[in-house]
Amino acid sequence: MQFSTKVLHAGIEPDPTTGAIMTPIFQTSTYVQAAPGEHKGYEYGRTQNPTRNVLQDNLAALENARYGLCFASGMAATDTVMRLLQPGDEVIAGNDLYGGTYRLFTKVYAKYGIQFKFCAMQDMDELHQLITPKTRCIWVETPSNPMLSIIDLQAVANIARQKGIWLAVDNTFASPALQTPIQWGADIVVHSATKYIGGHSDVIMGAVLCNDTAIYDQLKFLQNAVGAVPSPFDCFLTLRGIKTLAVRMKAHCDNARTIAHYLRQHPKVATVNYPGFDDHPNYAIAQRQMRDFGGMVSFTLHDDTLAAGVRVMRATQLFSLAESLGGVESLIGHPATMTHASIPLEERRKTGVLDSLIRLSVGIEAADDLIADLEQALA
Ligand SMILES: *Cc1c(COP(=O)(O)O)cnc(C)c1O
Repeated sequence: MQFSTKVLHAGIEPDPTTGAIMTPIFQTSTYVQAAPGEHKGYEYGRTQNPTRNVLQDNLAALENARYGLCFASGMAATDTVMRLLQPGDEVIAGNDLYGGTYRLFTKVYAKYGIQFKFCAMQDMDELHQLITPKTRCIWVETPSNPMLSIIDLQAVANIARQKGIWLAVDNTFASPALQTPIQWGADIVVHSATKYIGGHSDVIMGAVLCNDTAIYDQLKFLQNAVGAVPSPFDCFLTLRGIKTLAVRMKAHCDNARTIAHYLRQHPKVATVNYPGFDDHPNYAIAQRQMRDFGGMVSFTLHDDTLAAGVRVMRATQLFSLAESLGGVESLIGHPATMTHASIPLEERRKTGVLDSLIRLSVGIEAADDLIADLEQALA
């Protein structure tokens, strides 16, 4: 089944009791049993929910994974994966991570005796050198946030496999429409489904997908034992959003491509980060492992000051200044003070998150209107 069919049909059947084509919202906390233990596979709302099951199966199919689990947020999904680890374990992560992930690693899990090392994941020898007998997990985001660098999933997966280390990939920026990390050897895929998967800026949702039954069993145990589960209504909203994921991603990608090329020739713009440029340092890898280059673009100004960046962000009309990404409407953001504010200044500068860096989540409006908006804001 092709992706644009899977979004509508994989794991989704009409409701057997009524024929309702839309998956019902099973808004219940518990399920009646005929006699103790005599039930239809549903006991308690945290443990199982039919709306959630459909979403989990659908997301697993989209990622070409055997198993899917949903969580109350992307962070809850990441947190649950971290709970697979034990004190003394080490994690090697990309150095250009979502700010909240960096915060969870360094401010929460470091306290429990898990050690985190960060590297760019561009040089496989450097990655090799960071691995010790205690390394349990490699954590990767590609395209990365906000610099949109691309990490070679197959190369990292090969190293992880050789060393018996899990490779976990946060696939939020690409979405399964553009990239399926399991195909390149990832063991665990994590999503903030709040972003492209939900797509309409109306739900917070997370997901973990995997193929390995032992990993799945542990994660499923944790989903119930820890309890960061999403509501049935949020599962419904996410399922509703997914139905248009294929067409939305095409529009996001086409618009981002047009805007990246527009920005690149603008006299006030210094650099544009977009993996679809054929001179992007990782273009060949992006072309191989992604089906298109995504809806995110970031850029810096020749006037690399906070004030210059803020001036642009105040001036846009269609690009709304807000955290988040991946919704149908275009957003503009300032990583240095917004999404990446929890990253220390020197770390931030090292990875290229300069004061004037502006991140665009390009929506699905008409490209001409978006360009006119940027043109007046940059004037
Ligand atoms: C937003 C985001 C998260 C966190 O997800 P929430 O749903 O906000 O908890 C994790 N990773 C990436 C790449 C994100 O963009």
